[in-house]
Amino acid sequence: MPSPLGHALAGVAVGVLAAGPRTLVRHLDPPAARRPVDTAVLAMLPFAALGALPDIDLLFGVHSMYTHSLGAVVVVLLVARVLTGGWRWAIAASLAYASHILLDWLGHDTTAPIGVMALWPLRPDFYQSDLHLFLPISRRYWVPGFLAHNLTAVAREVLCIGPLAFFAYWRLTRVAGKRM
Ligand SMILES: [Zn+2]
Repeated sequence: MPSPLGHALAGVAVGVLAAGPRTLVRHLDPPAARRPVDTAVLAMLPFAALGALPDIDLLFGVHSMYTHSLGAVVVVLLVARVLTGGWRWAIAASLAYASHILLDWLGHDTTAPIGVMALWPLRPDFYQSDLHLFLPISRRYWVPGFLAHNLTAVAREVLCIGPLAFFAYWRLTRVAGKRM
């Protein structure tokens, strides 16, 4: 399963492009003194957090289950709708969250239960694609090769997802720059 960095990049890419850079910057209403880079980072942070959020279940010993599911995506959609008052924000937030489940499904899980409980509460099964696009992040720091393996895994994530996240960042800075 991908690293928090890979998940955050995917959350940014999906969330920013779904919400729309113009809408985001208009909503933030940056003061003239604020640099476009700072506006872009402010706009990206909530989506980065949402992209990484499902792995909070590691704290509770129920990894890849309820927070990695369709049910959780619907909860995020409804909570974001209440908090932001707009469906566009809510959909962008839930897509950023759902990107995590997609990445985990595309990854290579080596710890039981294998895969993610993606369709809960409709189905309790675990799913994983055969693509194994992303390497599993190891938490076994005592095993030889731990660092090299994880650096390779993160490099692959940055190569695959980084360009789209950078495009979202670039669009935000462009739009914010025009408002100065
Ligand atoms: Zn996960």
